[in-house]
Amino acid sequence: MFKRTTIGAVAASVGLVGAVAAATPSASAATLPTVDMARVLAAAQVEPACGQTAGLADNASTILVQKALTAKGYSATADGWYGTGTTASYVKWQKHLGYSGIDANGLPGVSSLTSLGSGRFTVAHKVNDGSRTDSYGGKRVNTRTKNMLQAADNLLPRWNFSLVQGSYNPGGVSASAGTHDGGGVVDVSVAGLSTTQRWEEVKALRTVGFAAWLRTPAEGFAYHIHAVAISDPDLWSKDGSHTARDQVCDYWRGRNGLASHSADNTPSAYRVPFTWWERYKGL
Ligand SMILES: [Zn+2]
Repeated sequence: MFKRTTIGAVAASVGLVGAVAAATPSASAATLPTVDMARVLAAAQVEPACGQTAGLADNASTILVQKALTAKGYSATADGWYGTGTTASYVKWQKHLGYSGIDANGLPGVSSLTSLGSGRFTVAHKVNDGSRTDSYGGKRVNTRTKNMLQAADNLLPRWNFSLVQGSYNPGGVSASAGTHDGGGVVDVSVAGLSTTQRWEEVKALRTVGFAAWLRTPAEGFAYHIHAVAISDPDLWSKDGSHTARDQVCDYWRGRNGLASHSADNTPSAYRVPFTWWERYKGL
C-alpha cells in the first residue's frame, strides 16, 4: 500500500514537470530507464585519463547520458565511454543551466543530471554532497565526505581521525597541486601512529570509497594520507587541470596519484577492491 502510494506520487510529479510525460499520459517514471548516478560519476572520474574501463563502467547509464546530451545539442558519442569528449559536452550542459566554476566541472551533479533526464531517464543511486561548509576534524569538508570519514574511523578502534587539510581550499597547500580546490579531498593526519596503523588507516579509508595513499618524506611530503572521495561530484581544480579527478584513475590502475604515476606503494594486505560510498553503503 505504501509503495503504491509512493509510485503514484512520483508519476504525478513527473506529469507536472515533463512535457513529454504530459503528451503521453500513460508514461510514468516507472517506465523510464534508470541511470546509476554514483556509477556514472565513478566512470566520469576514471575514464577520461584511463580510457574505457571494463568492470567499472555501467555502459547503459553512460549511454543514456550521452544520448540525452546529444539530444540537447551537445554532441556525445553514445559508446558508453565517459571520456574527455563526453566531459566537454557535459560542461556545456552545465553552463547552459547557468553553472560555472566548480559547478561546471563536467561531473554530473544531482540537479544537472535530473534536468538532463527529464522525460528520458530517472536518476538512481543519487550522490548528494550535502552542505559544502560542513566540517570534520576541524577542517572544511562536505557532508558526504564527513560521513565517509566517520565511517572509516568507526572501522578502527576510534582513533578520531584529524585532518591536516580539508576541501574547498583553492590557493591552499601548493604541494597539493590544486587537488584540494574542490570537494571530496582531504589530508588525514597519521601523527602518533605506528607503521602498521598508518596502513590500517589507509585501508579503512579505501574500504568506504576513498582513493587514498600514504604520502611519505621520500615523495617530498611530511607523512600524511591524501584521500579523494570517489564519485564526489565536486572534484575540481580551479586551473582546469582535473588533477583530483585524474587521481581516481591512478587509484583504479594501481598507481600513486602523483606526477610520476609510479606504482602504488600500499602493501597488498591493505588494498581493497575499488568502490565508492554509495555502493559501500548499499544506497
Ligand atoms: Zn592532499
